[in-house]
Amino acid sequence: MVDGEELKRRWERTVEALFRERVIKSEAVKRAFLKYPRYLFVEKRYWSYAHIDEPLPIPAGQTISAPHMVAIMLELTELKPGMRVLEIGTGSGWNAALISELVKTDVYTVERIPELVEFAHRNLERAGVRNVHIFLGDGTKGFPPKAPYDRIIVTAGAPKIPEPLVEQLRPGGRLIIPVGRYHLWQDLYVVEKTEDGKIRKKHWGSVAFVPLIGEHGWRE
Ligand code: SAM
Repeated sequence: MVDGEELKRRWERTVEALFRERVIKSEAVKRAFLKYPRYLFVEKRYWSYAHIDEPLPIPAGQTISAPHMVAIMLELTELKPGMRVLEIGTGSGWNAALISELVKTDVYTVERIPELVEFAHRNLERAGVRNVHIFLGDGTKGFPPKAPYDRIIVTAGAPKIPEPLVEQLRPGGRLIIPVGRYHLWQDLYVVEKTEDGKIRKKHWGSVAFVPLIGEHGWRE
């Protein structure tokens, strides 16, 4: 078993490499990555792989995304302190922890699998994160009690953009979402709601996420 110091060193090397390659572009995202290393959000048997830039398994057949993918999405989201953010697909809780460090306020995240709600709670507690609020449910419906949101980040692949998520965006807000095929390639979209309520979609590139399952997503 690799000791804690070695895990930390390996993680710092990964973060430095992502920064050098301009995948992590901002000091803020770099700081968040260093504060919440990925090994805190995977099961013990995966600790020594957490620095490798690949997705890893988490319980219930789901995945924690590769560090580069998480960095790309966070940079596209352009989070600022005080923004109200909703994440769909809590998984391990890692991305929510990073978001909370960037916005420095409460973050809302929805997960459909009860086992993962528990898993994320445990991970966030161990990492000392206090301002992430996890809700069990179908995130394709968004989370109306805390709407509207400045940013919505979807970390699972949808067949189409769920209408409730667009509705729950604040004018000037931004939705980041992979849209495409079930389990295969999706296109990552940045959807912006202009101040006068118009929708603009920009395509970033191809990604591969587990499916977004729900009323406005894929059917089980
Ligand atoms: N953001 C996560 C992290 O930091 O570990 C990784 C997310 S994993 C790639 C995708 C997650 O989306 C899975 O945990 C899956 O159960 C969840 N998911 C799929 N459909 C969902 C839905 N309709 N509502 C909420 N969560 C959903």
